[in-house]
Amino acid sequence: MNGHVDDTRVLVAGGAGFIGSHLCDRLINEGHRVLCIDNLYTGRMDNVQHLLESPRFTYAIHDVTAPMSYDDISLIFNLACPASPIHYQKDAIYTTRTAVVGTLNLLELAKANHCPILQASTSEVYGDPLVHPQTEGYYGNVNPVGIRSCYDEGKRCAESLCLDYHRQYGVNVKVIRIFNTYGPRMARNDGRVVSNFITQAVSGKDITIYGDGTQTRSFQYVDDLIEAMMRVVKTDNNFTGPVNLGNPNEITIKTLAEMVITLTHSHSQIISRPLPENDPRRRCPDISLAAQQLCGWKPNVNIAEGLSKTIEYFRKKCL
Ligand code: NAD
Ligand code: UDP
Repeated sequence: MNGHVDDTRVLVAGGAGFIGSHLCDRLINEGHRVLCIDNLYTGRMDNVQHLLESPRFTYAIHDVTAPMSYDDISLIFNLACPASPIHYQKDAIYTTRTAVVGTLNLLELAKANHCPILQASTSEVYGDPLVHPQTEGYYGNVNPVGIRSCYDEGKRCAESLCLDYHRQYGVNVKVIRIFNTYGPRMARNDGRVVSNFITQAVSGKDITIYGDGTQTRSFQYVDDLIEAMMRVVKTDNNFTGPVNLGNPNEITIKTLAEMVITLTHSHSQIISRPLPENDPRRRCPDISLAAQQLCGWKPNVNIAEGLSKTIEYFRKKCL
């Protein structure tokens, strides 16, 4: 993609989801034609409703586990996959099928259209990491038979498929490993920690910390991720990744809960709930490769600013 606008379309699989809808916005704003495909498993039409007015935006209900035969595609983004533990564990076999067969089908489409494909992989490929911060060279510590493995192993296999399509067929693949990303348009029932804490705080309910809250994550605001993704697709054909995309500001879940309470001026109490099985203890990206390959990219939105924007969104949706 070189900023040149033509009649070809950018396909966004999972475009009605949280990240996908922000990506569709950005592509439309930059003048591209966008074909958004989604089966609304966790996504919502509400996320892309405003784009339907644009003659350059098309939407199709499509499950990526079924083969696709779209043509005139100049670039593919594959974001189609449930991403929140409660949703990807609800039907674990569906999750593995989506991650693996869905990616295979989109790689076939990229091959047929001779176009690049960006694969949304995840920091979950590192499992419960024993190395901090995580670099792309770390192979991870994943339980292959646990309740998270449908997602972790599904995404690992998808990465493997991407690199094999590159080696065997010369497909231009870009694998990104996204670390915990949050922002407006996360679903209220998404189940991930930021949306849970904010909806609980603004509606005065108890804030549920799983375990003792000393586990860490590094939270990236969605706009920073979208900027990185747009830079990744402009890298040379021989840059396949994987590349970590995340905010290296590592905080505990307890600190996150306290920040949300402060920013929402909430009277909610913090309560403890059991820690889910195989919940990673620590997670923090090393983003040196991204900085080097993506013209000095680094996250710009700090956690207080990002949370405030997300709180504003949820206040409108919840109250
Ligand atoms: P999301 O659940 O909001 O979006 C996923 C989208 O994929 C939804 O619109 C859903 O309906 C769609 N989908 C699911 N299965 C499908 C199928 N079989 N066919 C077609 N569409 C399908 O989640 P998100 O946070 O926007 O995540 C988007 C992508 O980014 C996912 O692939 C996820 O694994 C990856 N990711 C996200 C994060 C994060 O923190 N948000 C972190 C790492 C990786
Ligand atoms: N978490 C929590 N309360 C919640 C939801 C999640 O304490 O209501 C914890 C969860 O156990 C994990 C961290 O927050 O340690 C991040 O969870 P999330 O599901 O957002 O993402 P992931 O575990 O996939 O990084």
